[in-house]
Amino acid sequence: MTQFNPVSDKVLVELTAVLTPNQISTARADRQQHAQDMSQHEPHLSEVVVWPSSSQQVANVLRIAHAQRIPVTAWGAGSSLEGNSIPLFGGITLSLARMDQIITLHADDFQVTVQPGIGYKDLNAQLGRHGLFFAPDPGANASVGGMLANNAAGSRTVKYGATKDNVLAMEVVLANGRLIQVGSRSVKQSAGYDLLHLFVGSEGTLGVITQATLRLVPLPAYISSAVATFADVATAVSAVVDLRASGLDIAALEFIDAATSELLSREEGVDWGENPTLLLEIHAAHAETAGLDLTLVQEICQGMGAIGFAATTDTAVRQKMWHTRHHMFETLRRVFVGHRWQLADVAVPISQFPALVQFARQTLQAHNLPELLVGHAGDGNLHIAIPYKDEATRQRANLANEAVVLHAIELGGTATGEHGVGIGKAKFMMREHGETAVTVMRQLKQTLDPHGILNPGKIFPNP
Ligand SMILES: Cc1cc2nc3c(=O)[nH]c(=O)nc-3n(C[C@H](O)[C@H](O)[C@H](O)COP(=O)(O)OP(=O)(O)OC[C@H]3O[C@@H](n4cnc5c(N)ncnc54)[C@H](O)[C@@H]3O)c2cc1C
Repeated sequence: MTQFNPVSDKVLVELTAVLTPNQISTARADRQQHAQDMSQHEPHLSEVVVWPSSSQQVANVLRIAHAQRIPVTAWGAGSSLEGNSIPLFGGITLSLARMDQIITLHADDFQVTVQPGIGYKDLNAQLGRHGLFFAPDPGANASVGGMLANNAAGSRTVKYGATKDNVLAMEVVLANGRLIQVGSRSVKQSAGYDLLHLFVGSEGTLGVITQATLRLVPLPAYISSAVATFADVATAVSAVVDLRASGLDIAALEFIDAATSELLSREEGVDWGENPTLLLEIHAAHAETAGLDLTLVQEICQGMGAIGFAATTDTAVRQKMWHTRHHMFETLRRVFVGHRWQLADVAVPISQFPALVQFARQTLQAHNLPELLVGHAGDGNLHIAIPYKDEATRQRANLANEAVVLHAIELGGTATGEHGVGIGKAKFMMREHGETAVTVMRQLKQTLDPHGILNPGKIFPNP
């Protein structure tokens, strides 16, 4: 690996020359704010934080870093869960937070071109006025750039796809400061190598995204939601497979285990009881279609032995349901005072989801850990939240996480469905992709970032 240089006074002078004084800081408080994401990984300080406001400024910063061999870690909103945005090797934190504008809305094409620092929730608030929305929804206050770089997904991926399925074109600044355009505004693209999707999910290790054209969808005219409860986990997750097999176009299909369901009911005032629960959402253009879909969902759930089923078209009830689900982690942190968290993220083909959940439960029991499981079940994506306070529990949490990841890979799945590799999943890359594929990835990295300055220490296992 390249030896990196510290951010010397000379480098600071060079950076200051391409930025304005309020766009650069070496203050400890600013560096601390960008030292850690939302994961359990240890914080690490960069030496300087910069907030460029244009693609050209990003290019200028990277040109300096490339010439001086200084690490650069892009920063969106810092909501990653695998240490993705921690500046492990110091250097420059490049925050895109001030590049947060909508550039052009192409409403007739269902597209919008944005700067990367815009939050997807802010974007959707603005798009709502035009009857449109950007579908990927990680729940946290993520930036569009961070979502693209992690290929984030969420509750609605089952219908609308992950972030990678909702981007058409990007402007990217390469490690050496050169700007390139990848993709196009055409929804069909067949022209050469798909560089667009090479950068998506690359976690800021291949280039910095400075602009993106996103696919939008019309806001559904009718939205209904349902909560189904089951006597046991096996039945609930089997219902997930049946619902997917039904051909119904479900917009969200979330699994919540009994312990989490009980905790959220108690803490958040929802009425999900103490049983494994499925949350569902259906989008339709007509009231009749929504009604028919909901009837079929109910028949399938009850056919699978659901002990409770409550459907609604009431917006407030649905919003409460999603607020509770999306703020689950905050609720857990409030309840488990003083704990740190190991958050697992694995995904498997949908037919293997019941086996994955069963294995995860057995593993948690074997390690004497609480069972707090949730998942974007419609995509075969499972999350496990493991609280710990002491070193012994942390080690058991790590062992349980590792066992579940390896099992997910054995089931034909992946070490990470949506949180990305970051620091925590690097050790599984060989197992998931094989040595030759990881070597090809390293070669791509070497081609695009020969000095290895972009977000070093991420994705790749130590040689
Ligand atoms: C409570 C909670 C719930 C969550 N739920 C989900 C979920 O359901 N689904 C999901 O997918 N994720 C989820 N996440 C994780 C997180 O929100 C996503 O990974 C999100 O994509 C991170 O976006 P960010 O803007 O915070 O990026 P950051 O954390 O700032 O950065 C993420 C990565 O992208 C790089 N990066 C940032 N901006 C750029 C850019 N412009 N160009 C190149 N690289 C860049 C960074 O270097 C880093 O590697 C959750 C997080 C929390 C805290």
